[in-house]
Amino acid sequence: MGKIVLHDKEFRLFMKAEKIDQVITNMAEEMNEALKNSSPLFLSILNGSFMFTSDLIKQITIPGTQISFVKIASYCGTHSTGEIQELIGLKEEIRNRTIVILEDIIDSGRSMKHLLEYLKQKSPKKIIIATLFYKPKAIVYPIPIDYKGIELENDFVVGRGLDFDGLGRNYPDLYILNK
Ligand code: 5GP
Ligand code: MG
Repeated sequence: MGKIVLHDKEFRLFMKAEKIDQVITNMAEEMNEALKNSSPLFLSILNGSFMFTSDLIKQITIPGTQISFVKIASYCGTHSTGEIQELIGLKEEIRNRTIVILEDIIDSGRSMKHLLEYLKQKSPKKIIIATLFYKPKAIVYPIPIDYKGIELENDFVVGRGLDFDGLGRNYPDLYILNK
């Protein structure tokens, strides 16, 4: 499909699924080597990362691999930052473990910065960040990304797990908003 319509907006095909598959395969191979002795706990950040997680994890062969599907809930509190982050769904013990965060996309880096601060309080051995897509020109909160999938310009994309107002997550290809 060359283009799709979601709600009132038109998106055009930007990257075919096969290209994205290849990037994920390469990432899995790198992880299999680099993390082979770490019994990693993968943290898949829902909703957007469900497809990336599924594609990647099928190719992970590291002994002791675990996966947890978590959701970030933000709410306002009396905290000085005005915002408190909580991870819903995290049952596994993090202390002293190698954590691999799986994100769909890093844009400003704001969500990842908050997530890192939250996880660091729980004293993991190491936190590794893997994202399928990232927008270097949009970064406001610089964070160390260990596994960078595909670099994007400052455009809005959908498909491959990413949505526009609830629609578009199901497409295996990546689409870009027609301006
Ligand atoms: P951040 O700015 O905190 O790095 O990104 C926060 C969230 O914004 C991402 O996890 C993702 O849900 C959403 N987001 C950022 N860029 C895009 C995009 O191009 N398309 C879609 N569908 N969501 C995006
Ligand atoms: Mg996300």
